[in-house]
Amino acid sequence: MKRLKRFAVSTLLILLIFSSCRGNERITKSEFALDTVVTLNLYSRKDEWIIEPFFRYLRELEGILDRYDEKSELRMVNEKAYSEEVVLSDVLFDVISKGFEIARETDGAFDIAIGPLVDLWQIGTRTSLPEGGDVERALSLSSWEYLDLDEEKHSIRFQKDGMSLDLGGIGKGYIASLLMEYLKENGVERASLNLGGNISLLGDGEHGKYWRIGIRRPEDDRSDYVDVIEVSSGRNVSTSGGYERYSIFDDGKRYSHIISPKTGYPVEGDLASVTVVSTDASLADALSTASYVVGSEGLEELSEKFSVRIIALKGDQSIETYDATNASP
Ligand code: ADP
Ligand code: MG
Repeated sequence: MKRLKRFAVSTLLILLIFSSCRGNERITKSEFALDTVVTLNLYSRKDEWIIEPFFRYLRELEGILDRYDEKSELRMVNEKAYSEEVVLSDVLFDVISKGFEIARETDGAFDIAIGPLVDLWQIGTRTSLPEGGDVERALSLSSWEYLDLDEEKHSIRFQKDGMSLDLGGIGKGYIASLLMEYLKENGVERASLNLGGNISLLGDGEHGKYWRIGIRRPEDDRSDYVDVIEVSSGRNVSTSGGYERYSIFDDGKRYSHIISPKTGYPVEGDLASVTVVSTDASLADALSTASYVVGSEGLEELSEKFSVRIIALKGDQSIETYDATNASP
């Protein structure tokens, strides 16, 4: 399949708030990757050399996890894993294992095996509503429960013909975690990374000890924040929402790119956006997607189960925070 063309409207739901104070001499580099804008901010001239290998490493990881890239390992897995057991690279096995665990623990609200449904709906490209029968068929193939992962062999096998993995809900967070590790291993002490709405922070913030992240009102003026949250070094902030990527179908309704693995239909939740803060970037990414699926009813439970902070922006613009971490921001 060709890479899906994306998207009518693309706005950012969260933004790192910069400071113009002295002591914040910032070196910024942005590139388009992973179907989004990736921005690295460094705060010391001594770290500048890392920009080039950093983005090279990012491209390398993208080359493994992008299922629309004909040469990617994930693409190969999706083509072969029904007919044969496929042994995976460490990186791919690791992210799939993490996604598999989160699928199990969220009772399938987050599901890496959602490929057939994502392909059917083609949110952002398609405008004619799929037939109910096609939704049923794709739904019957889209479940983590039909994946066989072998810890010892590092291998995967699909139980049903037509299954496929989609790492769109965890890949950016997972890549962010490896990139932040890379920065630390190379002596970088202060940095911020924005990978299309997945923000990772290292070291002191631009406003003192904490970094400040603005949560935007969807579809509104870019400078307008509904809320500003503070986060400390080592935290990762990820937001999902139905407003940044969607399709307007021929019934005139707007459909979000997050699909309910229970119904097979795009989520029509009560949240405008939902933001998750965690020390684990993969978890923050996956749980922001899961949170959008379960809606405000399920957020307290998710926050407790995974020890994360969740900030929900409801459709009526009210903000609700669930925080079971009992830690510093
Ligand atoms: P984005 O990647 O646009 O920031 P998300 O992190 O919320 O947004 O991920 C949404 C993507 O995850 C979708 O574009 C799709 O590829 C995939 N996806 C959609 N629904 C689900 C789901 N219920 N579970 C896991 N992944 C999903
Ligand atoms: Mg996500």
